[in-house]
Amino acid sequence: MNVLLTGGAGYIGSHVARALKGAGHTPVVYDSLVKGHAEAVRGLKFVQADVSDGAALRQAMTENQIEAVIHFAAFIEAGESVGMPDKYFHNNTVIGLTLLDAMRDCGVKKMVFSSTAAVYGKPDRVPIEETDRLAPINPYGASKLCVEYMMQAYATAYGLGFVALRYFNVVGAHPAGDIGEAHNPETHLIPLVLQVPLGQRKEIKIFGDDYDTPDGTCIRDYIHVCDLADAHILAVGAIEPGRVKVYNLGNGEGFSVRQVIETCCEVTDFDIPARVAPRRPGDPDRLVASSTRAVNELSWQPKFPYLKEIVAHAWQWHRNHPHGYGGAQ
Ligand code: UDP
Repeated sequence: MNVLLTGGAGYIGSHVARALKGAGHTPVVYDSLVKGHAEAVRGLKFVQADVSDGAALRQAMTENQIEAVIHFAAFIEAGESVGMPDKYFHNNTVIGLTLLDAMRDCGVKKMVFSSTAAVYGKPDRVPIEETDRLAPINPYGASKLCVEYMMQAYATAYGLGFVALRYFNVVGAHPAGDIGEAHNPETHLIPLVLQVPLGQRKEIKIFGDDYDTPDGTCIRDYIHVCDLADAHILAVGAIEPGRVKVYNLGNGEGFSVRQVIETCCEVTDFDIPARVAPRRPGDPDRLVASSTRAVNELSWQPKFPYLKEIVAHAWQWHRNHPHGYGGAQ
């Protein structure tokens, strides 16, 4: 299948593009390179354009006979979204609508959407199931949930078919060691912690230790980017016209910020200093997935469920690419 990947030169997009190719599909990477990296495209078909450009989208879909879209391109920082909701609703929600219209006009009837655990807000219970209450507590989660609602309306009105994948915390890097996470500036926990043994940072700040968790720090469910990529391949095959299917993707086990830092110390064999800092706005106490639906309906089976191995793959990438793409040593 010819598959257009918006944001395909980014962290998750580049891993999914490789998995798609491995599964016999033809990925076409569509990326503005504002956040993505040309080096992450690795010889795949590539269109440099913005998702806000409806004409460029239509041209890319028609010229490449696109049959399905996987929509990654988005702003993803929950904390930032609290102070800059305009950025998130424009780039995630409004541009999502531009993409849906282009698909409808070009007869592209299938889409997999990168949704997020942030749509649940502060969950009533963990592990969270897909039918649990949707109540985002930050504009990031709200901007993604709006797209899920738009997908439902476009499925009903125009017969498009969708899968929304609600990602929990995506981490790690490809075991081959040549693609990985490279955000600038970096805001995510594991890459920031690993900057300490790399000599790029003196200490890691723990954003709050007064949460309602055993050690007071936030609990998250960390999933390997390659396991997440596999789920996209299965999701593309599961799309049905006129329907929106929704799946959580996590490992079903929660780790606190302190536990993540300890695991990074073990993997890197480095004593990583940590200092408690104020809470980051928009952070719920705990997010842990039930991915039973993905396991049962998509036959999804994570290959790297253990945090230590996930961190080891991240460490291999960061150690060999301490400055991300273009900065390999
Ligand atoms: N976090 C932290 N220090 C940092 C970065 C993140 O304590 O320097 C915490 C953050 O508050 C959250 C968890 O680590 O509880 C995971 O944050 P991340 O930004 O990696 O992912 P998110 O949960 O926002 O998707």
